[in-house]
Amino acid sequence: MPNCPKCDKPVYFAERKTSLGKDWHGSCLRCEKCNRTLVPGSHAEHEGKPYCNQPCYSALFGPGGFGRGGSESYVYK
Ligand SMILES: [Zn+2]
Ligand SMILES: [Zn+2]
Repeated sequence: MPNCPKCDKPVYFAERKTSLGKDWHGSCLRCEKCNRTLVPGSHAEHEGKPYCNQPCYSALFGPGGFGRGGSESYVYK
């Protein structure tokens, strides 16, 4: 049984959301900054923590520019 990286409790199949290569509770996969619920595969990540693409990731780690639709073009490591 995998443990949720957010709350460190076991994640059962029915409530599991897989993102960033980890298994999360559906209610635990939230943006670290604004607490918005995230959709697996369509959010950003920084140091293993989930963030929403807009506005949080862009504001915190992005280039600060406009006109970018997604995070696919940018990989910040
Ligand atoms: Zn959890
Ligand atoms: Zn956010």
